[in-house]
Amino acid sequence: MGNNIQAVRGMHDILPEATPCWQFLEKTVQDILHQYGYREIRIPILEKTELFERSLGEQTDIVTKEMYTFTDRNGDSLTLRPEGTAGCVRAGIEHGLYQGLAPRLWYAGPMFRHERPQKGRTRQFHQIGVESFGLHGPDIDAEHIIMCARMWKELGINGLTLEINTLGTDATRRKYREALVDYFQSHGDQLDEESRTRLAKNPLRILDSKHPPLQKLIAGAPAMNDYLDAESAEHFSRLKSLLDSAGITYTVNPRLVRGLDYYNKTVFEWISDRLGAQGTVCAGGRYDGLVKHFGGPATPAAGFAMGLERLTELIPEASADYAARIPQVYLIIADDAGIPAGIRIAEELRDKLPGLRLLMHCGGGGFKSQFKKADKSGAEYALILGENELQTRTIGIKPLRGEGQQFECAWTELHKTLAERLGN
Ligand code: ATP
Ligand code: MG
Repeated sequence: MGNNIQAVRGMHDILPEATPCWQFLEKTVQDILHQYGYREIRIPILEKTELFERSLGEQTDIVTKEMYTFTDRNGDSLTLRPEGTAGCVRAGIEHGLYQGLAPRLWYAGPMFRHERPQKGRTRQFHQIGVESFGLHGPDIDAEHIIMCARMWKELGINGLTLEINTLGTDATRRKYREALVDYFQSHGDQLDEESRTRLAKNPLRILDSKHPPLQKLIAGAPAMNDYLDAESAEHFSRLKSLLDSAGITYTVNPRLVRGLDYYNKTVFEWISDRLGAQGTVCAGGRYDGLVKHFGGPATPAAGFAMGLERLTELIPEASADYAARIPQVYLIIADDAGIPAGIRIAEELRDKLPGLRLLMHCGGGGFKSQFKKADKSGAEYALILGENELQTRTIGIKPLRGEGQQFECAWTELHKTLAERLGN
């Protein structure tokens, strides 16, 4: 590549061959969100650094080592959003969205985390996320999970497993945290370096460690369940029975903690066993304290976010309509003198057949080379506008796939003929 400039490490182009799958994913998910009454919110990609520091927690992986932070020309510290919840909460407070209302929102777009690039982990990745505000019961938690299940079904993704857990209230977590610290401290010699750091700063995260030698120690750790307050326990058991009655299968994973500080009560993850170590495709939970924490009215909240890169890996080829992005008709214009008529014909066809995908040849060149391009485009028909056709106000139609002879068609009849041939 010599001195050519390349993309930033961990930030990938999504090429035209791949975009039909992305469009299918985005459209399917968004249609379902609208079916459930959720409305889109678009928030900036840049926020003040403080927003993420104060919401995600000072000791979380994202804040300590993953944020893309820089000082702008005014001297403000800004950060490329690593996730969408903080921005949604800020926007909701700023615009009074919570006053007496219970907005159910969704957002989509790129997120940025300076992680080690590897399979399933990039530095720019994309999420669609959902946030519901003002609803404290387990019914909204259940709705989120049921809505996800519908999405997987519509996308043709099978075999995801659902893990759920409850983190209780802040008070529960404080008590539990102490018990964990006692336990891991008494086994300090078995901890790896990362876990020793976490022990001091964020001990719950040790439960999340993927380090194989630690698994036995983790399995023997005290369980959150034994410290759970009555209200959270009741919330969790109601959620489970709502999922049961909706026919949703899940496992309770008492070690599921999630990486961010703002979660309480319900947390969940959807996991695939087909993606290797980075198998979580969607994750979320409740964050009842966050709106108030940012100075808004006390507002319970719950949400989740799905990682689009990982989901596209799981979408069966047959689900996405790749063919729908290939032109059906390629218009060959033999001579520059025919270009004005060619443009007119193409525009008229687009008026009359809005579903038609017509690619007009541009850039001149001989018949032969235009034919080659028509063939390569994947189109089913070439339309040929030569000198004769210009005189007689006709156009040649040549099937490019399989059998079939070229025939002539009057301009006035062209839309009807193509509609018949293509079934548009
Ligand atoms: P993980 O445990 O995989 O690091 P996380 O807990 O950091 O995930 P969340 O912040 O909950 O992830 O984000 C929700 C989803 O976004 C993840 O389940 C995953 O599908 C996706 N995601 C998160 N980070 C990345 C990344 N660096 N590259 C690609 N997808 C990601
Ligand atoms: Mg992470």
